[in-house]
Parts: sequence; C-alpha cells; structure tokens
Amino acid sequence: MVHLHIPLGLWQRRQSYARAASPNEVTGIGLMKMADREFLSVTRLFLPKQSTCAGFCDFAEGEMNQIILEVIQEDPKQAKMLCFRWHSHAEGPVFWSGRDEQDIDAWKGAWVANLVVNVRGDYCARLDIFEPLRLKNIPVEVAIDCPLDPEIDKVCAQEVHEKLTEIPPTCQLTGQMTGVKKGDGYGLFGSKQHL
Ligand SMILES: [Zn+2]
Repeated sequence: MVHLHIPLGLWQRRQSYARAASPNEVTGIGLMKMADREFLSVTRLFLPKQSTCAGFCDFAEGEMNQIILEVIQEDPKQAKMLCFRWHSHAEGPVFWSGRDEQDIDAWKGAWVANLVVNVRGDYCARLDIFEPLRLKNIPVEVAIDCPLDPEIDKVCAQEVHEKLTEIPPTCQLTGQMTGVKKGDGYGLFGSKQHL
C-alpha cells in the first residue's frame, strides 16, 4: 500500500484553505519526496492565484510558471518534487470527477499524487504513474504525521510518574498483587491482561 505522509501543520493549513474558500473549490500544488513508491511525504504547499466557483478552479495565467521558477531558484533539485496536487470539493462529496480525471491525464511528469478533500474533513488520495507505463489511480493511504510536543511530553511524563506503579517482577510472574494496594487500578481488568 502506498502511504502519503503529510505533517500535521500542512494538513491543518490545507483544511483552512478549503474552509476559507467554501462554498467554492480551491486547488493547489505541493512539493513531495518519494523515498520509494510506497512512501511519499509532502514537504510544502503552494496556493496559486486562481479563479474559482463551486465546480472547478483555474490557475491564473503564468502562476504555475512563477511557482516553478521560485522553487528552482531556491534549489534546482526541487523541481522534480513538484508532483503533489490537492483540491477541495468545498461542501460536496470527495471523488474523482470527470474534470479531475482529465486534469490528472494531462499531467506532464513521471508521476503525480492527488488529494481531494471537503470542508467536513473527508478525503481520498491516489497516485498516478506515467512512465515507463501508465498506472492509473493507485490507491493511497494518507498518514498525518503529528510531531511530538516537548511540553505535552513533560506534562504526561509527570502524570505517568504520579499515577503508575510498576508491578514487581515476582508478582508479574505469579499474577499476584502482593505489594500493590487495592484500588490503585491494577487488577481492574484482570491481572493476566497486564502480563
Ligand atoms: Zn475534483
């Protein structure tokens, strides 16, 4: 199964674009790394200037070239990474419309990953490969990567320290609760489940 990883911050931003544009659609592109054909990760999103309505969007003339230029100026190697496309169906259901299929078929590159979303948070994603053979609509599982927060880590570590008592190894073997006070939570679901 192909996995498309998106950092939480970019996922939230993409959803905010969809909500802000609703009831109209919004579409954009992004940079993506392909570690292998089963591990894709989005690293950046772009929102091009566009005209929009409830059924489709059109990038303003020259807008894509501008983004490509910006990306190449930063690092020429990044040009190959511009192969993530996302769009919102606003309040409509998520699916690949005839127009979406046409847009994907017209893609000029070796491969492209597409994500379609709506304001309710529904989404689906696909991968299309054009070279050396055309592989259409490969299903993709989206994984939203949540970074660890040092502050939450600290608070939870403190709470775990206060509330969890480790069962001594001898009791773990026999399943007895010697040394563990009644009412501290241990044994609520039967000791065997904790072994
Ligand atoms: Zn669509």
